[in-house]
Amino acid sequence: MITALTARKYSDDLFEFDAIHNDRGTRARIGRFATPHGTIDTPVFMPVGTRGSVKGILPEQLRQVGSSIILANTYHLALRPGSQTVRDLGGLHRFMSWDGPILTDSGGFQIFSLATLNAIDDDGVSFKSHIDGALMRLDPASAVAIQQELGADIIMAFDQCPALPATPDALSLAVERTIRWAAECKSAWTSSAQALFGIVQGGLDLDLRRRCLDALVHIGFPGYAIGGLSVGESTGDMATCLNAFAHLMPSDRPRYLMGVGRPLDIIRAVAAGVDMFDCVMPTRNGRNSFAFTDAGFVRLRNARYRLDERPLDETCDCPCCKQFTRAYLRHLFLADEMLGPILVSLHNIAYYHRWMRRIRDAIRQDALADMLREAENSAAAGSPLSEAPE
Ligand SMILES: [Zn+2]
Repeated sequence: MITALTARKYSDDLFEFDAIHNDRGTRARIGRFATPHGTIDTPVFMPVGTRGSVKGILPEQLRQVGSSIILANTYHLALRPGSQTVRDLGGLHRFMSWDGPILTDSGGFQIFSLATLNAIDDDGVSFKSHIDGALMRLDPASAVAIQQELGADIIMAFDQCPALPATPDALSLAVERTIRWAAECKSAWTSSAQALFGIVQGGLDLDLRRRCLDALVHIGFPGYAIGGLSVGESTGDMATCLNAFAHLMPSDRPRYLMGVGRPLDIIRAVAAGVDMFDCVMPTRNGRNSFAFTDAGFVRLRNARYRLDERPLDETCDCPCCKQFTRAYLRHLFLADEMLGPILVSLHNIAYYHRWMRRIRDAIRQDALADMLREAENSAAAGSPLSEAPE
């Protein structure tokens, strides 16, 4: 591997990241991230396919609205159908019929949020499956082995993500474990067809974040993620932390902010230097009849749309907006028709990808600071950029 922490470009056999342009007014950059299953333009949004499916959406529809990489959850796939089953069926790309890049998380975050009776120790986590109560254990080596069986292009180190607010002692313990586990993950990582990202923990404590990052860079990873944000702290605190920290991560590696978030959070993080995002917000809101549009947040069950023949978003060219009226979408939700959640999820994913395209265009023109200012003003006036019911 060629590594240079001040350079803009990183490459090894099958992966290459090139930060091709830095915005003059912020710390944002646009980049090209080549993986074995295709090249991603960054900053990028990754739709979440929790159980190997972006709920209700076909792979070709994801392509159609601009998805270039999707995320799948190791915890869910390891419980059902099991990583060995996925491996025996040819790996995750073939199993879910998505031939583009895939990222899997390490499973840690879901253990802490979903599994019952999780007991963490210095070597790993014991937990009961939320599906059948079976007692299971995950540690750094098994988290990497499972992700190697699943076969995603980008895999994540196993980390400990404490909920915020956390005591200084709890944060510090999580950081020390995360560092030790990252080294164990690196030792267990054997596939050159997969890039293993290290995850920086440390909550809102910048000294701990720096300590964690320094240790991870010393171990050496092809990419770095910021974990442990959007877990209970205010969005202002999150933005402050990102502004002080994101640009300290190696400039020649992709920087991934895990599980964030609203369009305003995303543009703020991009301005701080982040390249990759994932969040369930577009799909979860879409299933609940909430749509992101430039003109505002549309709650499709509202009676005001009963006879509304306009498309959901007049500026959107997604299959939902090109073919259907708000009145029809409202009817689908009230009648409990499955097409409603499908169409609005698809539209929301298209909205997020369009938002990222606008961000990339603004960076290309050295105008992200203007776009950010407009987004902040529009959010202050109550636009959907910062508002989201779920
Ligand atoms: Zn649309």
